[in-house]
Amino acid sequence: MIIKKNDNVIISSGKDKGKKGKVVKSIPTKGSVIVEGANLLKKRQRAKKAGQKGQTVSIAMPIKASAVMLFCGHCAKGVRAGFNKIADKKVRVCKKCNKEI
Ligand SMILES: [Zn+2]
Repeated sequence: MIIKKNDNVIISSGKDKGKKGKVVKSIPTKGSVIVEGANLLKKRQRAKKAGQKGQTVSIAMPIKASAVMLFCGHCAKGVRAGFNKIADKKVRVCKKCNKEI
């Protein structure tokens, strides 16, 4: 999978389209990623102890890796990425500017 943990991505489809965030987890077996602040699911959490109040927490749910684009700092936008061989090393590059991302 081309997207890894800690990558900066932009959501390219769905309800969070256009949102930028950081990948907190990549799930290659499912072809999904979890992006910080994207695809949030609000969940009510019950009080753990008597006397405590339950609270609503937002949990980022996985989204399809195909629905996110890598953010290229050189192009300053979401781009498609590919692999290129630079000095015999396989590196991930932006398909627009050909720079490593
Ligand atoms: Zn670029």
